[in-house]
Amino acid sequence: MENPFLNAQKQIEKTAEKLKLDKDIVETLKEPMKILQVRIPVKMDDGSIKIFTGFRVQYNNARGPTKGGIRYHPKESIDTVKALAAWMTWKCSIADIPFGGAKGGVICNPKEMSQGELERLSRGYIRKIADIIGPDRDIPAPDVYTNPQIMAWMLNEYETIVRKNVPAVITGKPLELGGSKGRTKATGFGVAINIREAAKKIGLDLNGAKVAIQGFGNVGMYAAKSLEEMGAKIIALSDSKGGIYNQNGISVEDALKHKKETGALNGLEGTKEITNEELLELECDVLVPAALENQITKENAGEIKAKIIAEAANGPTTPDADEILYKNDKFLIPDILCNAGGVIVSYFEWIQNRTGDYWTEEDVDKKLDEKLTLAFSQMAEIAEKEKVDNRTAAYMIAMKRVVDAMKLKGEI
Ligand code: GLU
Repeated sequence: MENPFLNAQKQIEKTAEKLKLDKDIVETLKEPMKILQVRIPVKMDDGSIKIFTGFRVQYNNARGPTKGGIRYHPKESIDTVKALAAWMTWKCSIADIPFGGAKGGVICNPKEMSQGELERLSRGYIRKIADIIGPDRDIPAPDVYTNPQIMAWMLNEYETIVRKNVPAVITGKPLELGGSKGRTKATGFGVAINIREAAKKIGLDLNGAKVAIQGFGNVGMYAAKSLEEMGAKIIALSDSKGGIYNQNGISVEDALKHKKETGALNGLEGTKEITNEELLELECDVLVPAALENQITKENAGEIKAKIIAEAANGPTTPDADEILYKNDKFLIPDILCNAGGVIVSYFEWIQNRTGDYWTEEDVDKKLDEKLTLAFSQMAEIAEKEKVDNRTAAYMIAMKRVVDAMKLKGEI
């Protein structure tokens, strides 16, 4: 498996060349400003104590308090968290929200843990990182295998430590605790908005367009739902156990119901089983990698048939694969823009918590749409003007904003 942080650094170097940044500035941007590693002892249900390792990486805070989710994954590593923290920096910047970037991670397998064990782990993790987070410092949120309930435990632990009500310390909370309307669906909905804009750009009719989605977690599922509502046809879906395919279309509702009942997508009536690898190479108009890093590599990039590749996951495409896709004239929507819907609505949640003024879902959706559509058009404009791929264009805008902020502050 390629090291995602080395890939994140390669993207920084490539963009720095285009922006003609000084070497010293590039060196500053290539490493996180702060890394915290913690050990979290947790009392398991059988009475034993298990020690978990967790991380919080704050990458850059030039544009505001750092922001980024917390992942629970058995294969979590410091390099993944560092890469994801860098990507959060560029994501908040291209979305033009006043945050820097951070990410957290705990090495664990939530699928094998009880609710009680997960709660104790989540509270333990917050106790260890409480000193470096806060609504004006670093604001966590959900990511892979974490959810609003976990955010609720974390918020409660933090509020117990600081002895006051601070809902803005964490986003992606349940509505009852100050979460924002529209937050749960925001990342997937934002992916669909980006695809709508990309389709317009290349002259593809989204009505009836064939879409294949890898990953059926929160992001993949809501992307599927939103695209279905926009008239697209979902021809393939997958989860970590494998994929399903029907060229006449799969009902997202049926897939969801089947997964709830059986625990997997496989076996849904009227669909054929396919592997996650086969899904990526299907004959379709839009491909949505919505699972983990490093899925599109130099080995399979040449086999991709889709015209639009919408990176709902963080880091699904390696730098080598990027070049192949660009040469093959694919329209790639880079992760930092494609999945920015989640953090944009996190920002709206943070505003609502701080002002005490809560918005309607229509307001949230409309403001999200405006922000993403603007960022998309800025990226497309730079890509055309500078004759670069979309990722480089998005990075050029995002990194320039961060560098400008650092310069104004006198940090570089
Ligand atoms: N984990 C999400 C991401 O990768 C959301 C982060 C947030 O809302 O802070 O963008």
